[in-house]
Amino acid sequence: MNKISVTSDNIFPIIKKFLYSNQEIFLRELVSNAIDAIVKLKTLIKLENLYDIIDDFKVKIIIDKINKTLHILDNGIGMTQEEVDKYINQIAFSGAEEFIKKYKNISTTDSSNIIGHFGLGFYSSFMVAKKVMILTQSYKKSASSIFWSCEGDPNFIMKEIEKRDRGTEIILYLNDEESKEFLEYDRILKLLQKYCKFMPITISLSSKSKEEKEIVINNINPAWKKNPLQLDDKNYLDFYHELYPNQLEEPLFWVHLNIDHPFHLTGILYFPRIGKRIDIQKDKIHLYQNQIYITDNLEGIVPDFLSLLRGVIDSKDIPLNVSRSHLQFDTSVKNISKYITRKVADKLDFMFRKNREDFQKKWNNFKIIVEYGMVSTQNFFDKVIKFFLFSTLDKNYFTLEEFREKIKETQKNKEGKIVFLYSSDPDKQYSSIKEVIDRCYEVLIFDSPLSVHLIQKLELSYQDLCFVRVDSDHIDKLINFEKKEKPHSELSEQEKQNLKNSIQHYIMEKYKFSIQLEDLSKKDSPFLIIIPEFLRRIKEMNFTMEKDIVEKDQYYQLIVNTNHILMKKILKETSEEERKKMIQEALNLTLLSKNLLHGKNLMDFISKKLKDLTQE
Ligand code: ADP
Repeated sequence: MNKISVTSDNIFPIIKKFLYSNQEIFLRELVSNAIDAIVKLKTLIKLENLYDIIDDFKVKIIIDKINKTLHILDNGIGMTQEEVDKYINQIAFSGAEEFIKKYKNISTTDSSNIIGHFGLGFYSSFMVAKKVMILTQSYKKSASSIFWSCEGDPNFIMKEIEKRDRGTEIILYLNDEESKEFLEYDRILKLLQKYCKFMPITISLSSKSKEEKEIVINNINPAWKKNPLQLDDKNYLDFYHELYPNQLEEPLFWVHLNIDHPFHLTGILYFPRIGKRIDIQKDKIHLYQNQIYITDNLEGIVPDFLSLLRGVIDSKDIPLNVSRSHLQFDTSVKNISKYITRKVADKLDFMFRKNREDFQKKWNNFKIIVEYGMVSTQNFFDKVIKFFLFSTLDKNYFTLEEFREKIKETQKNKEGKIVFLYSSDPDKQYSSIKEVIDRCYEVLIFDSPLSVHLIQKLELSYQDLCFVRVDSDHIDKLINFEKKEKPHSELSEQEKQNLKNSIQHYIMEKYKFSIQLEDLSKKDSPFLIIIPEFLRRIKEMNFTMEKDIVEKDQYYQLIVNTNHILMKKILKETSEEERKKMIQEALNLTLLSKNLLHGKNLMDFISKKLKDLTQE
């Protein structure tokens, strides 16, 4: 018996326990080694003109339930006795040891990604096996076939055996109880489909029992590796479904990534159809390295907004043996992230210019991704603002420049800024929208959860613009205020004071609104409830804050139209009871109009009611 040279404590128990929750990656590691062995041989065939080696290159996984073993076979390069000693006894072992030393304290999700990069690969089999055997024959014909066996301690057996076919067979004697799941055909099939689905050499799975036939589990030539010119729409859609077999919906469009310098990256990113609800947990982007599945956690590798996309990124230049928090400082990761962002923006730009109508049709289904990118990534903002679409109430689409041109003469505020009026919910804000439409102004729809952030960003970038929600004040104060003829006041200062007192008295019993008297037109409503733009934005920006810190109605302001005929009536009324009733009713109607359920119909009802109320 030989002994593996142990330089630190025995690593086997640590390997066994260490990655308990990630045991399954042993299979990825062993299959990748088998693939590597074949790829190496294929390279050698070319380099050394070994044209007598003609073979059907293949990796086989065989389950033997009776003997409780799992076999991984390849017909690759194989190993000589010296190579087993060097690669398995020394290098692989010290790789495993270095890994354990360095990563004792990291989380298991991270460790599964980096494990292979420390040469823990082969020894990860001891997470699931009590004994591991290697049977191997080097491609060098003169070399003997070698047997190696180890039972999870530093002792191993290595000897020559009867000549075998070229290649390597790894046999795992699985742990009786805790690893018997890996004898289940379906479990292994799922694992292979997860990690090996697009590996570049044919992989088959079979079982020694009769029921399960040998099947090929991978596609060795996945779409992202192909030349985009060879692919049509159907190929891209088929690949999408191959990647996400449970996904029924078609993606909207896609971007094929392909770059060799200054880093290697291939991949296809799909834009899914997204409504207002986003499910970021499902069907995430898969990261591959040389067609080996690594992870679907791309945090720190691509900007967050791109994690709303789906598809594949394959790059061996993304370092995985550093912690996630350090990735953002890595130069290639930075460049890769910039490259992807630019490609995505270019694709959108291209689609917009090529077929605007089609782009508009799809717009609402992916707008949120663009918005997220704009508020979080400056480079992306600068590119997409040229074709970001603003939609108006009547469902017309404008770019920022087009819309600015359209309204620059007609919609200005006191400071001379161009006013982009918007509504976040046309039904609820109908009473205000009606006023705006009556004056022939344009209203934009801003109804996404990111609207307030996007608006802040737009105002910062374009100092000549301002955004105000239609219900943030009386429309005549929002736009062209200077030009308006001010209605003269129907009430004397004393009357106004009396009116304010009466209303205040009543309001204070029920609400926290602040009251403001204004000389509006006789035709305007008696009351108007507004939330000033500035206050509302603060509220929306902090909506994650503890809800009860600020009470809801203190944001609202009640505007009292002193010129409305109702005010005179209230002032004339001598009975306190009656006065209260009038205020109450008018206020109720105003509140009702703030929560419109049926838009226009209810508005008509309210104006009729108001008329009744003011009848002498
Ligand atoms: P890594 O694959 O990261 O180098 P491993 O511990 O998985 O580390 O393997 C160590 C070495 O053992 C490999 O680099 C390779 O030289 C050799 N090896 C492992 N599996 C095979 C195989 N199936 N065929 C030939 N050589 C292999």
